[in-house]
Amino acid sequence: MKKAHKQIYQMLEERRTEILESIESDSSALNQLRQDHSGDVVDFASGSSFGEISSQLAEVEMRELKNIEAAMKRIQDRTYGVCEGCEKSIHTERLAAIPHTKHCIACQRAAEEADLDPAEITDWSVILEDPSLTIDGGIGDYGVNLP
Ligand SMILES: [Zn+2]
Repeated sequence: MKKAHKQIYQMLEERRTEILESIESDSSALNQLRQDHSGDVVDFASGSSFGEISSQLAEVEMRELKNIEAAMKRIQDRTYGVCEGCEKSIHTERLAAIPHTKHCIACQRAAEEADLDPAEITDWSVILEDPSLTIDGGIGDYGVNLP
């Protein structure tokens, strides 16, 4: 493991512990609230909205947790720092800012604009610029006889 990656791994591990602790305290706070209000019909609504907010927070945390664990695995697999979209190296500054990122800035922006998973983006410009596929050449050039 590279020294820089080892540091990032430790950072990710610390953040992971933080999130796990936060999720745990969220759910125990929620359970506490439910116990306090058990049988209390009037306050049931406020209790449930607290639950909704809490579960949304937990969802965000769970997503980050998943990304962090994936990044830790990539460090172990020595594939860390490579963009999943274009397979180029992700800039060190970007990794320092968002250690659990799996995409370079270009792919991240493209994904945000298209609102798609970068892994699903097909680079149509490559296909369109392929001279063997231009319509100008005509299908006849390939010796195909149309019916
Ligand atoms: Zn990329």
